[in-house]
Amino acid sequence: MITRLSELFVRTLREDPADAEVPSHRWLVRAGYVRRVAPGIYSWLPLGLRVLHKVEQIVREEMDAIGAQEVRFPALLPREPYEATNRWTEYGPNLLRLTDRKGADMLLGPTHEEMFTLMVKDLYSSYKDLPLSLYQIQTKYRDEARPRAGLLRGREFVMKDSYSFDIDEAGLQASYDRHREAYQRIFDRLGLEYVIVSATSGAMGGSASEEFLAVAEIGEDTFVRSAGGYAANVEAVKRPLAPQQDATSVPAAHVEDTPDTPTIETLVALSNERYPRADRAWKAADTLKNVLFMLKHADGTRTPLAVGLPGDREVDAKRLEAAVEPAEVEPFGDADFDQYPQLVKGYIGPGAALGLDADGNGIRYLTDPDVVHGTRWITGANEAGRHVYDLVYGRDFASDGVLDVAEIREGDPAPDGSGPLALARGIEMGHIFQLGRKYADALGLKVLDPNGKLVTVTMGSYGVGVSRAVAAVAESTCDDKGLAWPRNVAPFDVHIVATGKDEAALTFANRLAHELDEAGVSVLLDDRKASPGVKFADAELLGMPTSVVVGRTLADGVVEVRDRASGAKEELGVDVVANHV
Ligand code: ATP
Ligand code: MG
Ligand code: MG
Ligand code: MG
Repeated sequence: MITRLSELFVRTLREDPADAEVPSHRWLVRAGYVRRVAPGIYSWLPLGLRVLHKVEQIVREEMDAIGAQEVRFPALLPREPYEATNRWTEYGPNLLRLTDRKGADMLLGPTHEEMFTLMVKDLYSSYKDLPLSLYQIQTKYRDEARPRAGLLRGREFVMKDSYSFDIDEAGLQASYDRHREAYQRIFDRLGLEYVIVSATSGAMGGSASEEFLAVAEIGEDTFVRSAGGYAANVEAVKRPLAPQQDATSVPAAHVEDTPDTPTIETLVALSNERYPRADRAWKAADTLKNVLFMLKHADGTRTPLAVGLPGDREVDAKRLEAAVEPAEVEPFGDADFDQYPQLVKGYIGPGAALGLDADGNGIRYLTDPDVVHGTRWITGANEAGRHVYDLVYGRDFASDGVLDVAEIREGDPAPDGSGPLALARGIEMGHIFQLGRKYADALGLKVLDPNGKLVTVTMGSYGVGVSRAVAAVAESTCDDKGLAWPRNVAPFDVHIVATGKDEAALTFANRLAHELDEAGVSVLLDDRKASPGVKFADAELLGMPTSVVVGRTLADGVVEVRDRASGAKEELGVDVVANHV
């Protein structure tokens, strides 16, 4: 099929949109690929949708190639599964919540671990059913604090998310490796310059995780790499603990006086009675299940006490008093950390521990001895100096859970000794996680193993920002004239520009378009009655990889072929142009 510009639903704009912060955003709007509806929310016009579909198709082919099966979940979801994993709370204000007419809480899915876990639990029951990988390409919602740069950080966006289900660690590792390779093929095919960096697992939970970052100045992530192959998001760099980051200088938390937190009187009384040196106590909770006390001493230092209230939703003063029985809290440094290998020293309470991270990342709060799940970071917060503190992960934490990242400078040694570090910025294109059993545990996904014993399934989760990729590819290829798509994702392969009033030009352009079309080349034909200047400018703005200018030179039996990316022009005989292109 040949698409004629005279009929295509598009208007190119001569002015930059007012909110355009980065080139890809400016060009995608000016070239008529997308239109803004509200902050972080965009409509796709025909040209943009063609690119989106091409990116989706590349992702789909590579997921199918590793044996993952495509499904699709709704975006509108019930609260309960997210309540069971605690993400209803953990996601904080980023979660778009709504209430249906019966008053039931609903959400628009930010990611679908819960739903996939439940689906597999519904249908599968034996180790013979595994391994299994499922994926979807679907619209996600996150009420981002700062929607930015058009499609790069939307509040509604398209993600490919996949989930692997395995019986054991070796299986999970194999599924993870397969996804990692598929991601390399995806980003290679998209023509992106990218790095794979170690990452923190953030709101997803879990242990091993890596990000695929497209190298770009305008990226929001900073990463480091060494000539010797070390590469990490700065958030995940293992580095020595900065002197001020010891367990007694945890910054004060954001203040939140919620009805179900204890009153300040209770806490002060409690702490004074139990801890004569303490003049004030505050509570930091990642959830109401797991509560952490901070004692603020008269000399201004703070002592963290980790306590767990497993399963409790209602935290009343009595329970809290019982929970902070000093006998239940091991003193700093003397505790037996065998069950918390991630910590070198700290406090252990029932169901939770707080201490210095063995990797030197700061202070770490663990809600369960199992290394695979339940880790929480609480190395900081924002406002200091007020009363009861209630620190909620995801709401009060500025980043995905790691705060107080010590500054890393260009030339600092790589932690693995592989040379000096170089700093650069990138756009997170994909993120792969070994989730372990966090979701399967919370939602009860178990299968029978070969010995007839019920075992909990171990999972991975893997995301690609599909709509973000459209912008990232545009960003890495555009220039000061507009978009310049690589062939793999361009809306059309060839843009034929017919110029001049001469009927012969249009006739030849039409014939060439048909010839190319029959050869399987997709064609955009500029058959408008506009000046050559307008047409050339639009061809550069719209960014097809190749254009063919049919005009004045036709009389000499030649047309001009232009390569959008390099700007190279060459004249070709009318009889050979179709073959050449
Ligand atoms: P970011 O750090 O950019 O906020 P994230 O770590 O929160 O991303 P994940 O939860 O890892 O994102 O989701 C998987 C992928 O979805 C990301 O790697 C990214 O490509 C994409 N993505 C996440 N948030 C957005 C968004 N707001 N708009 C567009 N794409 C997004
Ligand atoms: Mg995010
Ligand atoms: Mg991220
Ligand atoms: Mg991520």
